[in-house]
Amino acid sequence: MKVKVLGCSGSEAIGHNTPGFLVNDVLMMDAGTITAALSLGAQAKITDVMISHPHLDHIKGLLFLADNIIGRIRRPVAVRALPPVLAAIKKHLMNNIIWPDFTKIPSAQRPVLAYKPFRAGVTMNIAGLRVRAIPMNHPVPAVGFLVSDSRSTILYSADTGPNERLWGEAKKARNLKAIIVDTSFPDKLDELADVSGHFTPQQLHKDLEKAKLSSDVPIYIYHIKPAYEAKVLRDLRALGRKNVKILQEGKTYTF
Ligand SMILES: [Zn+2]
Ligand SMILES: [Zn+2]
Repeated sequence: MKVKVLGCSGSEAIGHNTPGFLVNDVLMMDAGTITAALSLGAQAKITDVMISHPHLDHIKGLLFLADNIIGRIRRPVAVRALPPVLAAIKKHLMNNIIWPDFTKIPSAQRPVLAYKPFRAGVTMNIAGLRVRAIPMNHPVPAVGFLVSDSRSTILYSADTGPNERLWGEAKKARNLKAIIVDTSFPDKLDELADVSGHFTPQQLHKDLEKAKLSSDVPIYIYHIKPAYEAKVLRDLRALGRKNVKILQEGKTYTF
């Protein structure tokens, strides 16, 4: 499985893009960054976009993707999310005020985007991969994704704070090659992490100790807030966990 990291930061700043992962050239896992990091040709190859939750840093790339691919695709791009997430995008974003409703453009019969709701816990076949959405601990309806092909599985937490379910899934998963997990704030901002539904390095450490996960699987940290990057990296190093790595923006991983 090929995963190109278009963005993996917890906010936007120079050299820091918000979360968007292109899987096998056709499937987006979150849509925080799409158009700012892909050629127009590559954008037109996307067939499916899975959205973890409705926060802007995970959806904003959809807006310009829709704009760029009009007239360049044969089938609508499937935008897949929980029903309340799709409802929020429809009501608050592509509502013909903030941005056009691209499920009706250029026509309702042949639109650019099509909303496709999914349910958590159900295994789906999307773009040749098996995908299951897993509920996360975040202030809005949010899921992470377990994505598998015949050889490997990756687990993407999207945005979450401490979460037993996440590690339970990691333990059960076959051929698990990578876990991509949120660590947004330094240890010092523990309370802010709690109220906003994100991990600190120390909270991650506690969760991992409880979960007793095998240390063979690399854990890639994503969603670091750029303003606290140095502190988060320092706190992560202090954990002394060899399998904890930092996900690199712009890099293509093969799992
Ligand atoms: Zn969020
Ligand atoms: Zn986020």
